[in-house]
Amino acid sequence: FFRALERIGIRLNEPQIQAVRAVDGPVLINAGAGSGKTTVLTCRTAYLLLVKRVPPQNIVLVTFTRHAARQMKERLATIPGVTLAMVKQMITGTFHSLARTIYFHKLDVPPRIMSEKQKEFLIEQITKELATGEQYEPETLLALLAYLKNNLLLVGGTWAVEEVEGLKDDARRVLERYEAYKRDNHLIDYEDLITGCIETLRAHPNYLTALRRRMAYIMVDEYQDTNIAQYEMIRMLAKQSNLCVVGDPDQAIYGFRGAEPSIILRFPDEYSDCTRITLDINYRSPAGVVGLGNEIIRHNRRRFEKQLKVLPTGTGLPIYFAARSVEKEAEQVLMLIEKLVSSGEYEYSDIAVLYRTNSTARTLYEKLLLSNIPFTTYRDDPTFYELSTIRPVLDFMRLSLDPYNETALEGILPCLYISKARYMKEIQVIAIQRGVSYLEALRYLEALPLFQRRRLNEQVDWLKSIAKLNPLQAVREVRSEAGGGYDKFLGSEQNGAITYHKELLRDDLYELEEAVKPFATVADFLAYVDTVIARKETRRQQSESGLGLTLQTIHAAKGLEYPVVILLGAIDGVLPHSIAVDPDEKPDFWLHKKNGERTEEAMEEERRLMYVAVTRAKRELYISSPRYFRGKPATLSPFLLEAFRAASKAVVTYVTDEGGNKQ
Ligand code: ATP
Ligand code: MG
Repeated sequence: FFRALERIGIRLNEPQIQAVRAVDGPVLINAGAGSGKTTVLTCRTAYLLLVKRVPPQNIVLVTFTRHAARQMKERLATIPGVTLAMVKQMITGTFHSLARTIYFHKLDVPPRIMSEKQKEFLIEQITKELATGEQYEPETLLALLAYLKNNLLLVGGTWAVEEVEGLKDDARRVLERYEAYKRDNHLIDYEDLITGCIETLRAHPNYLTALRRRMAYIMVDEYQDTNIAQYEMIRMLAKQSNLCVVGDPDQAIYGFRGAEPSIILRFPDEYSDCTRITLDINYRSPAGVVGLGNEIIRHNRRRFEKQLKVLPTGTGLPIYFAARSVEKEAEQVLMLIEKLVSSGEYEYSDIAVLYRTNSTARTLYEKLLLSNIPFTTYRDDPTFYELSTIRPVLDFMRLSLDPYNETALEGILPCLYISKARYMKEIQVIAIQRGVSYLEALRYLEALPLFQRRRLNEQVDWLKSIAKLNPLQAVREVRSEAGGGYDKFLGSEQNGAITYHKELLRDDLYELEEAVKPFATVADFLAYVDTVIARKETRRQQSESGLGLTLQTIHAAKGLEYPVVILLGAIDGVLPHSIAVDPDEKPDFWLHKKNGERTEEAMEEERRLMYVAVTRAKRELYISSPRYFRGKPATLSPFLLEAFRAASKAVVTYVTDEGGNKQ
């Protein structure tokens, strides 16, 4: 078997072979980036099929994303002896797809999974119905609900009461009503797949026994990012003997979604007879890249020391460059990409641009949109201007230019605290009967209480004035004045204790101020926005081929590798994100976590993100940072400063930008 693998270029090392052979679990493979964890899982599966003659339907392979599942299946199919039929019969997929299969099997009619939009709408309706004293952002309540479910604090309508102590009564009533509505209407949301699966397993012991018999071999990739609910599901399904999990605690980056790195660390306590395997050779990246990765992650205090070794091949050193502004940074990255491709050494599809948050990449994204370089992002990615945070601001501007713009009016009503469902019809009627614009029609909403009508009148006057401002002033006016302040509407105390969310929203608004700066008038800016959105539509069709450059967040790049990786925006405040570092803005993320506790945890998670980013590179790694960011001087990410300082043996080549300044 191992000889056959060698023939297709996979020459496994000793511990890798040991891991493949250790078919009678429990097995824990805890190893660094690029050391072959996923490769081992693939080979182990082939070994089970071909050498141990395990029927494919008895093998379960759980991956973190659908993309990873697909890749795993493709790789499996290249191993001689593994047939497509085998691959098809295996149970391969994400936690959610596995949960869905198990859960739905016991139902006559499968429930419908609600979309984000439907969920938000339902929450909005319920909030209105209950006339809660506090107004909650639907997104915030939904994030809270997901958190509760991911941590098994809310299963089948039962709350773990002590844990959610401090949750405001109003919020709880909304969530209870929401859950009841879903139950009555045979609807579920995404997180319910896992909790529903667990409930099913608990309620049907015979079914569980049958499943356990069937799932003779269970393997889980990226185990460091499992959450409590997923852990419980696997714990129930797996028998002692047959579980094999692989992961790297240094790459745990989904804490914000409830992932618990301690789950992988506790594995040996729970399965005391488990085989523990460490892989310590990085096969993916050149020495300089591995060295930088080691130097970065070494500074995390809460971790188990492990050093990755490298093969003495490849000389590529990470290359760092700085640019004067975000604009210049994007230009330099584009030039670099063109240079790499025109050298003939790489295709566009060999290159990935990674970044911490989508708004960091806005400038580059728009330049790419308007260029002819083929590229892919997530298929349904909205442009920056279509984000739910940004759209209403643009609608204010649009309406100010054109008071007859009906869609724009609909977009701003919630920000004026006016119900669309209740008043939109009436506004249309008023506009027609009185022969006035939609904007003017707001003045005649007689059903509103007097004080609100008075305020609305002022708002109409105000809104008419902003068309004349320069676009930056216009954005600032909307932020401070619209409906008593758009910032306030987005993330005030209405949002309860969840400041984390609020900070991310504000991030988008700062970026919007950057976006409007190059334009002289509101009209020019809006015309540009329309071009970008239209261009996205045409480019989307082109990018379906998947042959272009990849543009994605670090989170999405987990587990993947590219010949060339370009890390964008490596500055303090972006990576680490300001959420994790701003001492005045202590993210009191969840109600039962104490202030500050999250900060150190969050910093280490940010550092792990940096580690994940740099370790994606197979041949070349470029790191770039602007010297100015959103109108303020920016400094290099402290994670890199620490690492650069220590790596005195010229791990990094410095490149200066056109200003000739060395960093
Ligand atoms: P990550 O931590 O990023 O998920 P990983 O530990 O899962 O990484 P893999 O993706 O399995 O690592 O492997 C990284 C690269 O190293 C792949 O390109 C893989 O083909 C290659 N590789 C792994 N093991 C070997 C080996 N024994 N010989 C040659 N190449 C190998
Ligand atoms: Mg992997």
